[in-house]
Amino acid sequence: MMRIGIDLGGTKIEGIALDESGKQLVRHRIATPVEDYASTILAITELVSYIENITQCTGSVGIGTPGALSPATGLLRNSNSVCMNGKPVKADIEKLLKRDVRISNDANCFALSEATDGSAKDAEVVFGVIIGTGTGGGVVVNGKVLKGANAIAGEWGHNPLPWPKQNELPGPNCYCGKQGCIETFLSGPGLSDDFYNVTNETKTAVEIVGLAASGSLLAEDCLQRYEHRLARGLSNVINLLDPEVIVLGGGMSNVQRLYKNVPEIWREFIFSDVVNTKLVSPMYGDSSGVRGAAWLNN
Ligand SMILES: [Zn+2]
Repeated sequence: MMRIGIDLGGTKIEGIALDESGKQLVRHRIATPVEDYASTILAITELVSYIENITQCTGSVGIGTPGALSPATGLLRNSNSVCMNGKPVKADIEKLLKRDVRISNDANCFALSEATDGSAKDAEVVFGVIIGTGTGGGVVVNGKVLKGANAIAGEWGHNPLPWPKQNELPGPNCYCGKQGCIETFLSGPGLSDDFYNVTNETKTAVEIVGLAASGSLLAEDCLQRYEHRLARGLSNVINLLDPEVIVLGGGMSNVQRLYKNVPEIWREFIFSDVVNTKLVSPMYGDSSGVRGAAWLNN
């Protein structure tokens, strides 16, 4: 059976078709219609038709998007494509495509892709986390996305940063209304803010990593703080879920030093004499989201 995956983002909609073995048959990307719900739904269905025309095959359809369907109402919530929120996205797409579709959070799709045939293949429990503009997380157990009673399993980013130091309290304001959320420290903008607080200079996460590599002590300090915070944040996940593999995605997953330094720090915070959990980079990089959407039908 051909599996079609759709990654619905704020600026682009990407579609992919995978064959039975996970081989990519076709991939196509279009711009997301600007803040228009009906056009966005139509664009998704046209992308599916386009893929099926090329492959001359009908596929299952899975969709990954920021946000999640509310278990209470079936309506999408928490999406950064604001026009999609409060809409019966699943029902409307199913009506147009005349078939069942599966929809899941983009971080869940990322985790599923890497757990199915990526860096965490064959692991029983996988935590995938996309660290970029935000810090979305997803959990896969035995090859299936753990959805949860409230459809928020894996959403660690709006927990407080654990074992806070005095100067980390109460922590930056978060858009969710709380202070000191993990996301406010560990997202790319969170890293930039930390650097700004010390230097009064505005630098992106990529620039700070580059400065540290070229010998800036202030940037190095900033990254060491970041690594300590990431280790603390992930220790909480390990203490609760005990995954075999944690896969990083998003922009920060390109920072190679994290894979060495963070596991050295997290030992102190994990309630175990041995720590077998591996921290790994993604095999499919930016393609993980769309591949995982396809694997929702598995
Ligand atoms: Zn928050």
